Amino acid sequence: MYGDPTSLGIDVVVDSEGEAVAPSIFYIFYRLSVGENVENYVKGLATPVEKIPCIKGASIHGAVELTRGCGRGCAFYSPTMQLERDIPIEKILKDAEVNLANGQDHLLLVTEDIFLYGTKTPWEPNPSTLIKLVDSLTELKRRGLKYIQITHLNLAAALYRKDVLEYISFKLYEFSLLKLRGRYVLTTEVGIETGSPKLLRSIYVEKFCLINQMNSLK
Ligand code: SF4
Repeated sequence: MYGDPTSLGIDVVVDSEGEAVAPSIFYIFYRLSVGENVENYVKGLATPVEKIPCIKGASIHGAVELTRGCGRGCAFYSPTMQLERDIPIEKILKDAEVNLANGQDHLLLVTEDIFLYGTKTPWEPNPSTLIKLVDSLTELKRRGLKYIQITHLNLAAALYRKDVLEYISFKLYEFSLLKLRGRYVLTTEVGIETGSPKLLRSIYVEKFCLINQMNSLK
């Protein structure tokens, strides 16, 4: 953490996933409410996948977690420097079905990069796992699913596995939520990207490796 949060009028900064620190946050609130001093920075550990609970009702925009963390370690923000974890496909489908059963017809697939899902060798995309995931989700059309959006995608990985990107786009096209100039479009966010080798080497080390790997295959 940079600097002292109290200089900005902030009592305490919690830098963690909710499951890891929820009980201590309530205790911190209690201590603040009775005028006690608390540490001004609380850092929690990554929650193991088996301790991430299923949702109990529809989520905002039908948000369903696919992955947590990124682990590629780009040097400018904390959540994605954490260990990358995949949510098991059975749990993803269960969360999706909870949404559909509770009136949601839209799924927002939450991930730092869909190409992280199923990676074994860092950070080599895993086409068969990605295809299985997309196929399983699109089958939920018969349960009332109308729209699917992916929160984030990494351009280096998408360029590296254009074939997988094409498959995902083909399958998700009929679930597009938005239109541009009369045509349906699939949308996602790509975060801060750069084509500069110097910047890649200094702050996006793993993306730099991915691009080098891609160039070596040409
Ligand atoms: S910028 Fe992208 S690749 Fe880098 S840590 Fe964040 S999510 Fe991962």
